[in-house]
Amino acid sequence: MSPSEHLNNLIQCGAKTRQGGSCQQPAMPNGRCRLHGGKSTGPRTPEGLEHSRKANWKHGFYSAEAKAERREVTSWIKRSQQNISLS
Ligand SMILES: [Zn+2]
Repeated sequence: MSPSEHLNNLIQCGAKTRQGGSCQQPAMPNGRCRLHGGKSTGPRTPEGLEHSRKANWKHGFYSAEAKAERREVTSWIKRSQQNISLS
């Protein structure tokens, strides 16, 4: 096997490039090359995980907590409307 054939058999990173193609670098164990997060093992500490979760947090309108709250209020309103029409 020639050196270039050997490179083709390695798992490629495949990250989207600015040229519109996909990255041809050999991937690290997590599936990305060293330039596209291959070195990163992600957040490990609880603070790191929380920071990561909130990194793009705008207002929380779509958070599970806020959605559940709206659902509860809506169903409460619906129920009270039904009660009014029944009486
Ligand atoms: Zn890459």
